[in-house]
Amino acid sequence: MENFRFKAWEISISRERKVIELPSGKISDYFGELTFNKRVMKEYLPSDAYKRVIEAIETGAKIERTIADQIAASMKAWAVNKGATHYTHWFQPLTGATAEKHDAFINPEEGGKAIENFHGTELIQQEPDASSFPSGGIRNTFEARGYTAWDPTSPAFILEGTLCIPTIFVSYTGEALDYKTPLLKALDAVDHAAVDVCKYFDENIKKVNATLGWEQEYFVVDAALYKARPDLALTGRTVFGHASAKDQQLSDHYFGTIPERAADFMRDFEYQAHRLGIPVKTRHNEVAPNQFECAPVFEDANLSVDHNQLIMHLMDRVAAHHHLKVLTHEKPYAKVNGSGKHNNWSLMTNDGVNLLSPGKTTEENARFLVFLVNTVKAVNNYPDVLRAHIASAGNDHRLGANEAPPAIISVFIGSQLTQTLDEIEKIDKVENLTTNGPDFNLSIPKIPEILLDNTDRNRTSPFAFTGNKFEFRAVGSSDNCAKPMIALNLIMADQLRRFKTDVDGLIEKGNKKEDAILNVIKRYISESKRIRFEGNSYSEEWMKEAEKRGLSNITSTPEALKVLNDPKTVELFEINNILTKRELEARQEIKLEKYAKRIQIEARVLGDLATNHIIPIAIRYQNTLIENVKGLSEVLDSKNYTRLSNIQLQSIRDISEHIMEIKTNVSAMIEERKKANAIENTTKQAIAYRERVVPYFEIIRYHVDKLELMVDDELWPLPKYRELLFIK
Ligand code: ADP
Ligand code: MG
Repeated sequence: MENFRFKAWEISISRERKVIELPSGKISDYFGELTFNKRVMKEYLPSDAYKRVIEAIETGAKIERTIADQIAASMKAWAVNKGATHYTHWFQPLTGATAEKHDAFINPEEGGKAIENFHGTELIQQEPDASSFPSGGIRNTFEARGYTAWDPTSPAFILEGTLCIPTIFVSYTGEALDYKTPLLKALDAVDHAAVDVCKYFDENIKKVNATLGWEQEYFVVDAALYKARPDLALTGRTVFGHASAKDQQLSDHYFGTIPERAADFMRDFEYQAHRLGIPVKTRHNEVAPNQFECAPVFEDANLSVDHNQLIMHLMDRVAAHHHLKVLTHEKPYAKVNGSGKHNNWSLMTNDGVNLLSPGKTTEENARFLVFLVNTVKAVNNYPDVLRAHIASAGNDHRLGANEAPPAIISVFIGSQLTQTLDEIEKIDKVENLTTNGPDFNLSIPKIPEILLDNTDRNRTSPFAFTGNKFEFRAVGSSDNCAKPMIALNLIMADQLRRFKTDVDGLIEKGNKKEDAILNVIKRYISESKRIRFEGNSYSEEWMKEAEKRGLSNITSTPEALKVLNDPKTVELFEINNILTKRELEARQEIKLEKYAKRIQIEARVLGDLATNHIIPIAIRYQNTLIENVKGLSEVLDSKNYTRLSNIQLQSIRDISEHIMEIKTNVSAMIEERKKANAIENTTKQAIAYRERVVPYFEIIRYHVDKLELMVDDELWPLPKYRELLFIK
């Protein structure tokens, strides 16, 4: 992109290429070298301690004090060897980010010396001063503190000289204050429920892990331009900005060559990620200019969630070295594609069998269909619970806002599977169709091993089956994957439990196992038909059709969060032992508050920019026009003056109109904000922000963006889209 002009921020735009030296060896030489993984544990731990940790990881068994001391000692020895000086419990409070409090290993000794120390108690439990983390009223700030407790299923790692120990974060009274606690519970619930169902097919299955492979979309922007845009810096998105003459209309960025500067940055953070054992594999350009995606190989959901949190942190740090800024906001630029974080999800047995992968034998296919149909049924039972777990102020710009994906939760399974399910639904006499014999033989239609829709898939669906996994596409790019993973694994666990009860009920009545399964599946297919949609999810017709089917179309966060204290939701969470009513209420409260605060900040930034940056510049430019018109009257005769000054006079009037509109609307917005602030009920407050404050954003923006087109480019106080969207 050419330099259109010379602006203050141009000076600080970095033009220096930063090429990092990667080690000459293969990725596998340094992959995971900064993690205290199983291989390292085996090397550093006495064999008994090693056995116990593995047991703890695999079965959740408790670790005794003495063993914990041994683990802590080895962990410290390993970390110090790698140059670490500090340790921290690394956890995911409800603020959305990760939290750390670093302590040095150092312990003073007699005679002014010191030694490095780290005990089992310090590994297992910590009491961070956490009084200012949101708790939704659960933990009174004066009363008790939160505890962090080690999660041995996610390996400790060294980040920036600190040994980080992944932990959960709970209150003094045992209530969850983080995302990891309910996530681990949901994963445990789905494990047990899925194992029980697997036993219909294979008695030997012992464990089922939920797997997650996320695809992280993001934008990069030059750090100097970012700093020159207070809206980007304070809210993560541009509240103003006229579309660039060229952005994504030629689709020339998507899968194109990655710009050199972005590529240098990617190589750098991928190297850091690989050292931390994050299996990032794919990188490519996304649809919008300067938009990219990074995706790892899938892992156990808990680890994958941690890795996504970690990679967002890494990207941010590494970008700074390249004078870049990473934008994970769902919609940093208006009228340009937003960013999401597809959550690819499946279930895998301890034998490595993907339960959502069609098999070779009829038995494998029967098992596949059972898990497929139960997933569809689970989403059908609780679409609004899923929706609530991806709601955020940022994601409101995507879901239901003329942008992919839609706010209506539906499931896409592809034409072949649709046909299969239709055929199963039509079987009327199950008993007549199953064959007797030693083999498990459901009379299910044949399923091809490779599903056509795997390649030719529907990109408009928020929850799509993609051959051997489901892809939850409605997740926001900045969100913690734990949220959708809690919801999805919980509803799946709940559904699989019901399935088991239903099937066992029929078996008790004297049905054969195969018949019982087929009968229940058949019923589920009919019952969950409304959630299946194969067409264009963005279309008007779907909105109407979905409404007829009784599916909700929730376009705002405050609306989406309402379901969290619905008795049906509370029951779902309580029966499955994931969160209590109180914990759910607390979470709802925190999310609503966070929403209101974010809108409040955006409103302030918008008002400030419009009033203190845009209007003064518009007036300055208008003054030059006024001077010009006055000058014209001196140099032109009156006939020509009347004819020729018209255009300038019109511009002068237009500028005044826009200024007036901006001023009036900013004042009105401030009034509404004040009213919203005075509301005590958090739900009502969030709704007031959404319904009475947010609508002003677009109105004000319209006038500011018009001014951007009129005012002398040299005077305009903010970097424009054409600069932000193309790194130089
Ligand atoms: P896309 O075309 O959407 O980019 P890919 O086939 O490249 O899809 O896969 C996207 C993601 O899906 C990757 O992160 C990959 O690891 C993940 N994935 C593949 N199989 C599974 C699975 N069984 N469970 C969870 N995630 C999976
Ligand atoms: Mg995808």
